Amino acid sequence: MENLYSLPKLPYKYDALAPYISEDQLTLHHTKHHQAYVTGANAIIEKCSKARKEKADFDIKATAKELSFHIGGNRLHGLFWENLAPAGAGGGGLPAGSLASAIDAGFGDFDRFKKEFSTAATGVEGSGWAALSYCKETGRLLIMQIEKHNLNVFPGYPILMVLDVWEHAYYLDYRNDRGKFVEAFWSIVNWDSIGKRLAAVRH
Ligand code: MN
Repeated sequence: MENLYSLPKLPYKYDALAPYISEDQLTLHHTKHHQAYVTGANAIIEKCSKARKEKADFDIKATAKELSFHIGGNRLHGLFWENLAPAGAGGGGLPAGSLASAIDAGFGDFDRFKKEFSTAATGVEGSGWAALSYCKETGRLLIMQIEKHNLNVFPGYPILMVLDVWEHAYYLDYRNDRGKFVEAFWSIVNWDSIGKRLAAVRH
């Protein structure tokens, strides 16, 4: 039996993030788009296993690229769902504790951080993500843009927070207005979850 990926359950109901993310939008995003990365990764792994058993060749370069695309998609979506919480019930507001201190130390203040992260998200070329990462060597928070689902940016740096700005993440609710979706994100961002992630990577 293969060790394969499975679609994680959302930590809230499909309608819990409305009106910032509608029930239709979230349902589609989770059950169709995220599921497609899980299914895609599993199919490639099974295809490789079969070829290895049969001592058959497969295109290593193409397979590695496809596999990183699907595994990256699965991993980033898993982080994204954990990054969110219903507005006023864990979502929105301001970061607290050591996450707030790290943001102030790194960016000056929260408003400056919010502006830089939002600009990174709205400015991703084509499909991709904005992400907040942590460098263990310097103790610094870093904002990055991840095009598509390529994870080979700051290799190995743990990601604390992500925002999906693929059109499939917001088109039903905001059409082509990515900026409006990015603004809505700040009302449902789960600071507690992100703060816990920071505490865990600092050890
Ligand atoms: Mn997505």
